[in-house]
Amino acid sequence: MDKLLDPHTKKICDALLSDIVRTADNGEESTVKFFRKDLISMTIWLFILKSYNEYKTINIEDIAREIAPSSRISKPSLRLILENAKIKKFIRFVDNPKDNRLRSSIMISWNDIRYIIDCGPDFRQQMLRENIQSINGVLFTHEHADHTAGIDDLRPYTYKMGEVPIYAQKRVIENLKVRFSYIFETVNRYAGAPKLTENIIDYKTFILNGINVSPIAIMHGNLPITAYRFGNVAYITDLKTISDQEKKKLKNLDILIVNALRIAAHPTHLNLEEALAFVNEIKPKKAYFTHISHKLGFHEDVERTLPENVFLSYDGLSISL
Ligand SMILES: [Zn+2]
Repeated sequence: MDKLLDPHTKKICDALLSDIVRTADNGEESTVKFFRKDLISMTIWLFILKSYNEYKTINIEDIAREIAPSSRISKPSLRLILENAKIKKFIRFVDNPKDNRLRSSIMISWNDIRYIIDCGPDFRQQMLRENIQSINGVLFTHEHADHTAGIDDLRPYTYKMGEVPIYAQKRVIENLKVRFSYIFETVNRYAGAPKLTENIIDYKTFILNGINVSPIAIMHGNLPITAYRFGNVAYITDLKTISDQEKKKLKNLDILIVNALRIAAHPTHLNLEEALAFVNEIKPKKAYFTHISHKLGFHEDVERTLPENVFLSYDGLSISL
């Protein structure tokens, strides 16, 4: 086997196999931690994770053909790695659906009212999955693509409703107008474009269908962005820092939803440790972490380590109050 591998691939392969063997020897469940940086490219693991169900029957050759072009590893080497792992039966791929994470977004609903916070690139998929036939509006936390890129998919709702109200701070609306100019065009407008009603918000409380909504100013690195409090629920994503003044808006929360990106520190997002410290300071009745990267780890593994009233959120989670 060694003869077929170039030195770089050999190093990766050895590391992978020794990892697997070590876990197996320890008698632990031999879950391969796929976020080891230089072990093997993420693409491979994501692909394998996705095709896990077919993995037992799938031809190794097929997997190698699919993923070798997108990885740094040559096809024959990859085939050897997979073959080895399969033969040794050391790999148990985790197939918990809670580990399939789409972009962060939530829907807040009461009576027959539904507001969405952020519509990222997975918005369409999320709305279809939850079979959401109507919405009352979309609130944006900030302009980054993972929170806004699904805006064109508001179309079916505008066909039904005429116009969809959107709420965001001025800079965010201006940014959307640049990036999605055709949506905001007033002259020679394409009839099929989504129709959105702009609502520029500042940091004053406003009312949506009888519920008080308080925008909260937070910092995403150097970028001032918005979190929202609906009644006793606060949704905070992409937080890195927050002033003491704004923290006062987070008193007596039943539910705090806040970002916890990963284990290692990050310049613009809270990591797990910082998110836990934040929960400790704010003291909501319950906290749910969101905006989770694969680098946080597997759902079950991480949740086991959290305090009693702190949970990892997952796609499709629904909380009733
Ligand atoms: Zn984000």
